[in-house]
Amino acid sequence: MKIVFATNNKNKIKEIQSLLPQSIEIISLQSIGCYEEIPETADTIEGNAIMKANYVTEKYGYDCFADDTGLEVESLNGEPGVFSARYAGEQKSTEDNMDKLLLNLENSANRNAQFKTVITLNLKGKQYLFTGIARGEITLKKNGNQGFGYDPIFRPEGYQETFAQLSLETKNTISHRGKATRELIDFLDQISR
Ligand code: IMP
Repeated sequence: MKIVFATNNKNKIKEIQSLLPQSIEIISLQSIGCYEEIPETADTIEGNAIMKANYVTEKYGYDCFADDTGLEVESLNGEPGVFSARYAGEQKSTEDNMDKLLLNLENSANRNAQFKTVITLNLKGKQYLFTGIARGEITLKKNGNQGFGYDPIFRPEGYQETFAQLSLETKNTISHRGKATRELIDFLDQISR
């Protein structure tokens, strides 16, 4: 069984392939000749994951899965959410995104937040959604230098450290992406038996 993973991140493909049975082959966008940027203009995280997977299935005719992630802050009505990558603006950096969030939360006692990953799988004419959530809070300042994105200002529930202070191994066991990916893998594993 061949399934396209709609990502340009080779490490993500390698990682997931290593966790799946050999009967399932994960193939890249390049290997099906998809070099264009896949649109992700929906206004929800789910919507974007669905849009990306459907684009590949409809245009190239392959079974496919795609993921989308965002950080949702309770007192900001779920912002930055689907805009997480470009919260401070299209050309702005990760640092700018974190600075904007810290500023917006300056006077907020409620710093609850969650990361959400949604994976959409199109398989044999059916669509499946897998969701992973990591709850926690936004810290008062940046701490740590591991990981990426908002990791230095997100402290997961049950930990004193931010994601950026935890090892990748620990982060993977508790993270939104880790949880959603394990759900996908369990599902593919079961149906390939
Ligand atoms: P994507 O859908 O995986 O590209 O994620 C969208 C944006 O969410 C990224 O550009 C990051 O800003 C943020 N993000 C996603 N996953 C993480 C994470 O694990 N830690 C910190 N930030 C993340």
